[in-house]
Amino acid sequence: MGLFNNLFYKPLSAQLTITSSNGFHLRPVAQFSSLAKSFSCQVTATFDGKTVDTKSVNTLLSLSLEKGDTFTLITQGKKAEEALKELHLLFETLMHDDKEIQKIEKTDYHYEGSVIEGEIISKGIAMAPTFTYRAEEKQHKSEMGFKDALSKSIKELETLYSDNKEDENAGIYLAQKELLSSLGVNCQTLAELETQVEEESKKILGTQFDSKRSDYLDILQRVKKHLGLEIKVIFPDTPFILLCTDLLPSEIEHLHQTKVAGVILKETSINSHTAILLRAAGICSLIADTERIIENETAILDTHAGVLVQSPTADDLQKATERLKKDDAQKSLNASKRFKPASTQKGKQINVFANVADIHSAKIAKEEGAEGIGLLRSEFLFKSVKPSLEEQQKAYKEIFDTFDDITVRTLDVGGDKALPYIQIPQESNPFLGIRGVRLFHTHPELLEEQLYAMFLAAGNKPIKIMFPMVSSVEEFIQTKSFAQKVAQKYQLDISNLLFGIMIEVPSVLFLLESFNDVVDFYSIGTNDLTQYLFAIERTHPSLKTNELSPAVFSAIESILQKTTKPVSICGELAANKAAIAKLLHLGIETLSVSPKSIAQTKETIRYA
Ligand code: PEP
Ligand code: MG
Repeated sequence: MGLFNNLFYKPLSAQLTITSSNGFHLRPVAQFSSLAKSFSCQVTATFDGKTVDTKSVNTLLSLSLEKGDTFTLITQGKKAEEALKELHLLFETLMHDDKEIQKIEKTDYHYEGSVIEGEIISKGIAMAPTFTYRAEEKQHKSEMGFKDALSKSIKELETLYSDNKEDENAGIYLAQKELLSSLGVNCQTLAELETQVEEESKKILGTQFDSKRSDYLDILQRVKKHLGLEIKVIFPDTPFILLCTDLLPSEIEHLHQTKVAGVILKETSINSHTAILLRAAGICSLIADTERIIENETAILDTHAGVLVQSPTADDLQKATERLKKDDAQKSLNASKRFKPASTQKGKQINVFANVADIHSAKIAKEEGAEGIGLLRSEFLFKSVKPSLEEQQKAYKEIFDTFDDITVRTLDVGGDKALPYIQIPQESNPFLGIRGVRLFHTHPELLEEQLYAMFLAAGNKPIKIMFPMVSSVEEFIQTKSFAQKVAQKYQLDISNLLFGIMIEVPSVLFLLESFNDVVDFYSIGTNDLTQYLFAIERTHPSLKTNELSPAVFSAIESILQKTTKPVSICGELAANKAAIAKLLHLGIETLSVSPKSIAQTKETIRYA
C-alpha cells in the first residue's frame, strides 16, 4: 500500500519501553521486523525525534534503543489496529524472554607460569599448543550474478532458521537473514553491498550493539562465497588453542568439527553471536589480548579462572589435568544422574518437574530428566490467530502424553499481554486489570473452548488444571463450576481431573484456610507474587524486586503452614541455587523449573 492510500487511515500508536538490559538488539529486532513486514500498512518507530521504518532491521537498529528508552510505534493503513496489537504483544514477549547475559564469575588460581587474564566466554580447561588463525582467500570464477548470490544467501539463511527453529540459537540465522535483506535491497553490485555493510557496521561501533558487527561481515562473506570466494583455513590435526582477533558466527560450526581444544578471541564480547555459539558448542573460550600470546607453544587455558598460562610448569600442568578430570567427571555425573530422583542429604525425595511452553520444550524436559510437567503455559497456542478446537486438542494431547504427571494452566493473558483477536479495553494499570482467570468473565467462549479441548485431550488421565491469577475463593468456585458446566454441556466425565490455583496474588495468603476446602492443589508463582508483594512491575525498566528477600520466604513459609493440599513452586525462584536449600527446609517437595535447569536443580537438592 502506498503512502498516499495510507493517508486515508488514522495513525494508531503505542508507547513501547525497552526493559531488557541487552537493549533492542539484532535478534529481537529481526523478529519484530519480520512480523512488521507481514502487514501491508505502514509501521514506523519514533524515538528521539527520529522516525524510521520498522520493516527494515537496519533502520530500526539505527535508533540504538537501550534499556529504559521508550519509543512510539505507529501503524497506519489497512489492518493497522491488528498490526499494532500483534507487534505490541510480540515486543512484550521479546523483552520478557531476552535474558540478560551475566558476566561469568571467576574462581581463584595459583599458577607459576606467566598468566594473561581475560573475560570468560565459556568455562572449561584446555591444554594444547596455541595456533593463530590465518585464512587464505581464493577467488574462483563464478557464473552467478550479484542479485542471484544475494537471494541465494537470503534463502540459505531462511532455511537454516527454519531447519533449526527448535534450537534456542536459531534466532541468529533469522537476524542475519533480515539484516542481509534490508542492507541488500537497494544494492545492484557487490561493491555497493560492501559499502553499505561498512557504513552500517561503522554506525554501531562503540555502542551497546558493537558486538554484532561480526554479523555484518558474516552476511557479506556468505554472498561472496556464492560469487566464487573461497576462504581456506588449515587447522592442525592435533588439539590446539585457537588465537584469533574475532570469528564469524558461521565459522563456529566448522570449528566444532576440528580438534579445537579452546579459543581466545581479542575483539568480541560475551553477548556476541560468536560467543553465544561458542557457549552452545561447549568450547572453552576467553576474551583476551591475543597479541601478548606466544604462538605454537603449549599453554593452559583455564576459563574457570579466566586465564591463559604460558610456559606452564610441571606443577601447573598437573593442576590443570586434575581440574580437567574433575570437570569431565562432573559432566558425566550430572548427565548420568539427571534421570535419577533427587534426594536431600537427609534422604527426603524432592520432585523436579518442568515448566514448558509447547511440545518442543516438553520433549527437552524429558531428555533433561524431568519427572513431570509442573506448569504448561498454554499461551503458546494463542498467538496471532485463534487456534481451533481441533488444533488445541491435538497440541494438548501430544504434550499430555509425554509424562504421567501434568499440570496445565488455562490461558494467562491480558494485562500487558494483549491478544490481537480479543478486545480488552485499554487500562491504565494493566497488571492490576483483566488478566488470567478474570478472562473467564470477559471472554467465556474462548475459555469454554480451551477447557473443552483440554478435557478431550485428557481423556481418562488425571490431568491437573490450574487457574492463574486467582484472588478469592468465590472466583475459584465460580471458575471450577464453569468448567463443570462445560463438561456437562459436552457430556464428558471429568471426575479424573484435579483443579487448583496459582498462588501469585497476595490476598490468597490470607484465605488459605477456605481455599483448602475447595482446591486440589496449589502452585506458587513467585514471579508474579514478588511483583505484587513489592508493588513493582516485573518488566519495569529500572525498578527491580529482590526475589531472595525475606518477605518472599516468609510468604512461602506462611503458605506451607496453612495449606493442607499439595504445594509446588513454579516461579523462577525454584531454580535459584541460592534459594533451593531454604525452600526445601520450609517444606517444599516439588520444584518446577525450566527444562535446562533440571540437572542442576537436582544436583543442588542432593547437597541440601
Ligand atoms: C509466576 O508468576 O511465577 C509464574 C510461574 O507464571 P508466569 O511467569 O507465567 O506469569
Ligand atoms: Mg504468573
